[in-house]
Amino acid sequence: HEMSKYIITVFGASGDLSKKKTFPAIFGLFKQGELKAEECRIVGYARSNMTTEDLRSRLKPFLLKQGDENLVDKFLAHVTYVHGPYDEASGYIKLREAYTDLEKELAENSNKSVGRLHYLALPPSVFGTVCGQIKENLYEDDISTKIIVEKPFGHDLESSRQLQKELAPLFSEEELYRIDHYLGKEMVKNLLVLRFGNIFFNAAWNKENIQNIQITFKEPFGTEGRGGYFNDIGIIRDVMQNHLLQVLTLLTMERPVSFDAEAVRDEKVKVLKAIAPFDHNDIIIGQYGKSEDNSKPSYLDDETVPEGSKCITFAALNFKIRNERWDGVPIVMKAGKALDAGKVEIRIQFKQVASGIFNEIPNNELVIRVQPDEAVYFKCNMKTPGLSTTTKVTDLDLTYADRYKDFWIPQAYEALIRDALIGDHSNFVRDDELDVSWKLFTPLLNYLEGKDAPVPSIYPYGSRGPENLNEYMKAHGYVYMKGDTYTWPITRPK
Ligand code: NAP
Ligand code: NAP
Repeated sequence: HEMSKYIITVFGASGDLSKKKTFPAIFGLFKQGELKAEECRIVGYARSNMTTEDLRSRLKPFLLKQGDENLVDKFLAHVTYVHGPYDEASGYIKLREAYTDLEKELAENSNKSVGRLHYLALPPSVFGTVCGQIKENLYEDDISTKIIVEKPFGHDLESSRQLQKELAPLFSEEELYRIDHYLGKEMVKNLLVLRFGNIFFNAAWNKENIQNIQITFKEPFGTEGRGGYFNDIGIIRDVMQNHLLQVLTLLTMERPVSFDAEAVRDEKVKVLKAIAPFDHNDIIIGQYGKSEDNSKPSYLDDETVPEGSKCITFAALNFKIRNERWDGVPIVMKAGKALDAGKVEIRIQFKQVASGIFNEIPNNELVIRVQPDEAVYFKCNMKTPGLSTTTKVTDLDLTYADRYKDFWIPQAYEALIRDALIGDHSNFVRDDELDVSWKLFTPLLNYLEGKDAPVPSIYPYGSRGPENLNEYMKAHGYVYMKGDTYTWPITRPK
């Protein structure tokens, strides 16, 4: 892949995402040499009345977290700021003028064409307006244009379609890059290789061998004063309909004919279409209460949360995929805030081996830990070393930090911005994918937010979730091995 030259414009440059993620990711690429000073200029745009110097000093402390001052200053020298409204041409005309100068600067080194990447780090309410203005004022047929759109892509099927209706006439699917940053995570990008590049895993990846799949998201903290934002969204929209569903599709889709973006996304859409509607009686919903020792607040204690809110901070959902490969395999997605740990992992539990020679031998498990500390481990049975003839659960372990010491593992946003620059769509969400995912989730959300909405069960802050979780997992085929059956002896200094 050859990258051409780019002017990257960050719309909403005065905001939170921009300073915490977007600019640091662009800087990360610069630091790694993936973006070269002679090939790229970055422009921040927003309404706030700031100067270029203001923006640079606003960004600087965030960039210093990942690079020394000398490098940060070199990078910031290529960052400028333009301010103006989102809904009138005037600001965009200023941008166009700025582009003319920057293009001249970039042209000095070579005659490669200069493309434009527009990153919308803005609230979705202005996506349509800004895209309209970009098309009218900053679009030229012979200049490569790419638009990165941040989630959320709608609140339900209707609003997602509405947004799509606003964007589709302006930009082709080829020009749009919908970010779901989970698709930029190293372990998520590894899923297709792990599955299709290894005959051993590939052969076992089906209903004949797999008893249960869990996709788990745990956060060890609550809303902590940001409940106002979270309350309208809830855990299902926050991480399940988007991030974890992406993980699920990559985990369960059929083999694509190639790694080409459209081939991959075609298969993702197919498996999404094979998922049965949710059974509303087959879910768990919860909201966190105070911790058992009362030291941590309940969700409702958050002053930004409306009184008596039924907002869901924990959910477990069972996915049934009705196809040849997965029919009958329970795939449980569970996610929650204020739990006992912070992790995102996939756990695949295999079936029991044939009975007869062993009295009781635990099921194999393959665990793919997405975060923190990427790892893949396979829990398997071996003879207890020595004279004993008993068996013991042990592991084949790949811990990235041990195995890949000198690798640069890019942050999700770094990986995705680079993908967009080189025009690789594989790790972005396609319009039809988005539509099917909302079709699946909207009836459930309507039920959970309607007038007969069920009341979420309260679980203590810092616990594993609602009380009936273990029973639910058991009912969906998961066999829990008691803690003393398997121990992980290694503690690693952070
Ligand atoms: P933000 O700080 O609220 O907004 C970004 C900028 O947009 C603001 O600085 C403001 O700039 C402008 N803006 C804010 N409200 C506006 C309004 N009602 N009308 C027009 N302009 C408005 O948002 P953010 O946290 O950076 O998030 C940007 C996007 O990324 C959102 O779609 C969000 O859902 C998504 N996102 C954010 C995070 C995160 O960590 N923050 C994570 C994932 C996804 P001016 O007033 O200067 O124009
Ligand atoms: P585990 O943490 O023991 O969890 C195994 C599964 O059992 C999870 O699905 C968990 O659900 C569930 N569970 C936990 N407590 C339960 C209970 N009381 N009743 C019913 N179900 C329960 O995971 P593990 O894979 O056996 O690993 C043990 C430890 O070793 C972990 O801390 C792991 O990080 C560590 N380890 C690390 C590496 C590595 O870093 N490379 C490799 C191997 C193991 P929830 O997820 O919902 O809690």
